[in-house]
Amino acid sequence: MVNTKKDQIFTEIYMGIHCILVLVVLVYYFFSQMMTEMMTIMLIAYGIYIGFELYLLAIGKILKLENLLGGYFQSIVDVLFISICSIYLNSFFFLVLPILCLFILTASLANDRTKSIVHGLLATFGYLLVGILTNYFSGGVIFIQGVLLMGFSFFVGELNQLISDVYKRNHYAMEEIEYKNQLLEYRATTDFLTDLSNHQAFYQSLEVIAEKHAPITLILLDIDDFKTVNDVYGHLSGDYVIREVSQIIKKQLRSSDIGARYGGEEFAILLPGTGQPLGQRIAERICETVAKYPFEFDHQTMQITLSAGVCHSTVALNRGEQTMLVDQADEALYCSKRNGKNRVTSAQFK
Ligand code: GH3
Ligand code: MG
Ligand code: MG
Repeated sequence: MVNTKKDQIFTEIYMGIHCILVLVVLVYYFFSQMMTEMMTIMLIAYGIYIGFELYLLAIGKILKLENLLGGYFQSIVDVLFISICSIYLNSFFFLVLPILCLFILTASLANDRTKSIVHGLLATFGYLLVGILTNYFSGGVIFIQGVLLMGFSFFVGELNQLISDVYKRNHYAMEEIEYKNQLLEYRATTDFLTDLSNHQAFYQSLEVIAEKHAPITLILLDIDDFKTVNDVYGHLSGDYVIREVSQIIKKQLRSSDIGARYGGEEFAILLPGTGQPLGQRIAERICETVAKYPFEFDHQTMQITLSAGVCHSTVALNRGEQTMLVDQADEALYCSKRNGKNRVTSAQFK
């Protein structure tokens, strides 16, 4: 629901005013010692009703007994309460009109436009009826007041609509900004071809993670003879291979691990909390899976292998040491290349 916050605020204001009013009437009758039996019963009944609504509000349900009497249960109860109060408020009848306006205003803002207008009209009707029946309000005055109240009801209905529109527009604008921010962040940190972190995001993660976690392992992976893949099978086949290798890498990662496309056909994997034996095993598993994987694109089958360089540290690393970790993993990777490719070389961080 778009208007939940607005509804919540106005329902709270509405309930607050109800409570104040009940208190005022109670105090007034207590001190004036004019409490009649009828008035006592009504105040108790209304107090229970308000208490129930307050309870619903407190437990987070804005249940407004909406299904009763065509959704106007609340309006009718309020109007009855005010009408009866106004009979008893004979020495303070000048208070009835402002109280009614306050009721119409708060109840209207807590409801939708139609309900708001009907609520106002019901209140006007109750007020007129009481006025005529009790002769408190003489002649034309009551009709002028009735017309004013009716106008006020429509005015508040429109005001309600206006506030709802502003809230809705605001809500959608905020949602759009949030969505665009997320999209921007996603595009700035994610590689479009593989959906892995990009080079920059990898370094951001390395900075945060390597400072806090020990042991830590970094794996650098490079597709062997990838230039030949492009030359023989075409650039699109090359892209396909990069995507498939990324999928294989992703499947080996836990949620705390970082997988990145480090460069064209190079990948980096950061394994926080992982020491040498497991780090090396993960690198070997990825290389073995790729070597066995049936790469097929455009009716052509390709044999792909990876070379890996693994560097692990038993202690957390500061910024300068993080760069050295990457350099040493790179050295290990080139060791794998020099020794015939399709293999893993492991090194301890020095
Ligand atoms: P080595 O075994 O020593 O790693 O040899 P190599 O051919 O894999 O390495 P080299 O660095 O010579 O070639 C990498 C190639 O990867 C060159 C570049 O055109 C290609 N490449 C880089 N990014 C992409 C890409 O996004 N898609 C495709 N299809 N090719 C790419
Ligand atoms: Mg390379
Ligand atoms: Mg390569």
